Amino acid sequence: MEERESGCRHVLMIPYPSQGHINPMLQFSKRLSSKGVRVTMVTTTFISKSMHLQSSSLLGPVQLDFISDGYDQGGFAQADSISTYLSRMQEVGSNSLRELIQKHNSSDHPIDCVVYDSFLVWVLDVAKEFGLLGASFFTQMCAVNYIYYYVYHGLLKVPISSLPISIPGLPLLDLNDTPAFVYDPGFYPAYFHLVMNQFSNIHKADIVLVNSFYHLEDQVVDSMSKVCPLLTIGPTVPSFHLDKAVPNDTDNVLNLFQLDSSAISWLQEKPAGSVIYVSFGSMVCLSSQEMEEIAWGLMGTGFNFLWVIPDLQKKNLPKELGKEIDACGRGLIVNWITQLEVLSNKGVGCFFTHCGWNSTIEALCLGVPMVALPQWTDQPTNAKFVEDVWKVGIRVRVKENGIVTREEIENSIRVVMEKDLGREMRINAKKWKKLAIEAVSQGGTTDNNINEFINNLKRS
Ligand code: UDP
Repeated sequence: MEERESGCRHVLMIPYPSQGHINPMLQFSKRLSSKGVRVTMVTTTFISKSMHLQSSSLLGPVQLDFISDGYDQGGFAQADSISTYLSRMQEVGSNSLRELIQKHNSSDHPIDCVVYDSFLVWVLDVAKEFGLLGASFFTQMCAVNYIYYYVYHGLLKVPISSLPISIPGLPLLDLNDTPAFVYDPGFYPAYFHLVMNQFSNIHKADIVLVNSFYHLEDQVVDSMSKVCPLLTIGPTVPSFHLDKAVPNDTDNVLNLFQLDSSAISWLQEKPAGSVIYVSFGSMVCLSSQEMEEIAWGLMGTGFNFLWVIPDLQKKNLPKELGKEIDACGRGLIVNWITQLEVLSNKGVGCFFTHCGWNSTIEALCLGVPMVALPQWTDQPTNAKFVEDVWKVGIRVRVKENGIVTREEIENSIRVVMEKDLGREMRINAKKWKKLAIEAVSQGGTTDNNINEFINNLKRS
């Protein structure tokens, strides 16, 4: 009780249970904790079991707790389809969350606010049953959220019939610059519904948090701020890589994949700027043909390369190709690495990426230029900004049959890696790194917004 009178507030943080959604919310939790807010991050029972997490485990100062998504034994992989998973998660998760809030409310640390991943709209309804503050957390960039907002409200009709697309605050967009679910709404109907549904009850959210920073997309932030109470609170990159103000905040600490420790010592031996770091994140599954083109494209550049292929996806890497990579003596394939540690290593000259939002913003924060090969969801729009707005990389051109050739990959990487060609991009990358540090430092736009969020908690 004494603690509450002194103003310490308790926030429940509820991410969507995947790597790319957990990382930003965990990082935001650490920031809040460093400013005196008590934070409990809630993951699923399945994640807790598979990672041997205890409810008393602390991720730094962040407390952990769990709810059931209805698939305690196998998580998402246990469900028949994404729509089955989402509806069962809503049904079972709502009850599990009610019990969890009741448990905390009868302790010395009752909940003041629930921050929930914008995909999990039902969390807001539960929070409001308890009269709590609700903050929707958009893990994707503001431009992408605003495009979805436009589609949801019928301001942009899909399928798109007229080009280019003009949305206030955004550059003019071609079809292949839009998120995959807008480009082709029939491709993954369940995900299309998920991203649209983010806006179904947003008017009930007290605050909308976006994992971006003001100067990165100032015009679109200004536009979207007119339609909801928006605060940019990113980049949610560990403080060690930015302002160094949060003690012991050096890396993303909840890895859902088995880490491979060989990468860092391999990198240490490489000359500065000589390595292409390659990763397509946690969800993309490349076909054998795509892997083949990528592998030959990488080998053709003559540069070193470090390629993350999670074990589950390795089945698509043809055996012979693995041998060719070993034989060339310049490539290392690993299961999963601490990405920020790699991106901040001097050996890395560029990041060949699928442009997942976390990977994109991490590269921006660490000043690493990118070669973009977006696959689906928000990645095409992120790649558009990388190439045309922030000018920190280039996008590999895809043939009309959807195939990317090894020649195209090799040429694109050369443009970014080679001294003269990539100079401008490296200069721009350093500029964004500086602006990211300014945003989170005391008095920066993000720091001010986080303080404003905390002040709202105090008024609750
Ligand atoms: N990541 C990592 N190690 C790896 C590959 C990725 O730590 O070997 C992290 C990366 O730093 C990022 C997240 O996993 O925070 C991937 O998120 P992103 O949004 O880029 O892609 P997604 O996995 O959601 O497609």
